[in-house]
Amino acid sequence: MDTTLDPQTSWQSFLDLVKASTSSSEFENWFAPIHLVECTQEKVTIEVPNIFVREYLLDNYKKELLLFLPISSDGELSLHFKIKEGQKTPEPLTLPNLPPPPLSLNQLYTFDNFIEGPSNQFVKSAAMGVATRPGKTYNPLFIHGGVGLGKTHLLHGIWHYVNTHQKKLKIQCVTTEAFINDLVDNLRNKSVDKMKKFYRNLDILLVDDIQFLQNRLNFEEEFCNTFEALIHKNKQIVITSDKPPSLLKLSERMIARMEWGLVANIGIPDLETRVAIIQHKAEQKGLQIESEVAFFIAEHIYNNVRQIEGAINKLMAFSKLINLNLTKDVVERILSDMLQKNPQKKVTVDDVLKSISALYEIKVSDLKGDARTKEVAFARQVAMYLAKELIDDSLQKIASSFGGKTHSTLLHAWKKISSQLQNNEQLLKQVAIAKRNIEMGAGG
Ligand code: ADP
Ligand code: MG
Repeated sequence: MDTTLDPQTSWQSFLDLVKASTSSSEFENWFAPIHLVECTQEKVTIEVPNIFVREYLLDNYKKELLLFLPISSDGELSLHFKIKEGQKTPEPLTLPNLPPPPLSLNQLYTFDNFIEGPSNQFVKSAAMGVATRPGKTYNPLFIHGGVGLGKTHLLHGIWHYVNTHQKKLKIQCVTTEAFINDLVDNLRNKSVDKMKKFYRNLDILLVDDIQFLQNRLNFEEEFCNTFEALIHKNKQIVITSDKPPSLLKLSERMIARMEWGLVANIGIPDLETRVAIIQHKAEQKGLQIESEVAFFIAEHIYNNVRQIEGAINKLMAFSKLINLNLTKDVVERILSDMLQKNPQKKVTVDDVLKSISALYEIKVSDLKGDARTKEVAFARQVAMYLAKELIDDSLQKIASSFGGKTHSTLLHAWKKISSQLQNNEQLLKQVAIAKRNIEMGAGG
């Protein structure tokens, strides 16, 4: 007796599995519209409403499909797709044809509430430039940086500014996810033209978290077309991302477009800026924090402003609950699980010099010296860049540890390397390696 499931049952088992493990709306959206066309022991053919459903299935359910469906002799999934041709079968789910849902914009994410420091000054002024003169300064403006460093805040800042000062302009702020979902809905409703028209009539398009466009080939193309249509009309585009364009897994065309304008990095705020952020957030919430306590928090939560905010919220909740004086000891106890255990390791200029010396095979004494041969000068600049990034000290002091250089030399080196990092992948890797070595070696 043949113990393998018959193909029809296999497909049903697959659906049952999916049904059990996804939300009902996801199931309704993606699976309910699929029709089984043919199934034999050798292959299964299904009809899907559009190519996006095929993409979605293969992107997300390959493993499960392989489990249930026939496999060809070369080990590939033997699943065939038929794209439905405008036949008049009733749509399982018709969504109202609304404009894309507006992003819930945080009222507090304004330029005024964005605290400036050396790590974000440049990006903030670029964002303000774009908000005051859309389409006329940098286009597109591409903002990248790690999580919780204020990318979304600045993006919404642009939105708020435009909405207060230039009400006539059509501005739309979307997350990349929302853009994709919108596109899928409109494809299903055969209203893509309407959507295209909507986006292409905007004066300003703000797109958050473009990294989610990676590996979504078909969506990428539509996005790219929208993008080009807007740019060609001098309409402003602002994009945020967790990586610079060159490191995104997107088509060359898309990457090139994103590099057309200004690519700006938002970095980790230095100690003073973190203190200012803490004081600002506390004040906003009506929480009294001594400066010693603000410094204490800033020293122990250092690479993510969102966490800093979480800490303030927690202190706020506690101080409402019990009438405690927020001394350093009390704060330390309340926040114990949030404080980073080893407060920022004290990296020294010597640590940086040693690591760069090993990486580029150049003597530390040369790095500290005045030789200007290309290799030495470059390695020195990378060392200066890293020193500024990793050491929480005045530029003056850091520079003087490089055999008595000036702080403007240091700043110049930092700017130069920062800008090279935007599109030099090899350098990016070298810097990452050096950083890791320094951080592993520093502070014992
Ligand atoms: P990202 O989008 O980069 O992950 P967000 O913009 O969501 O980060 O910022 C995380 C939180 O930190 C937000 O509440 C934001 O207001 C706050 N934040 C980040 N940078 C600053 C800053 N420079 N000044 C004030 N708040 C900031
Ligand atoms: Mg964000």
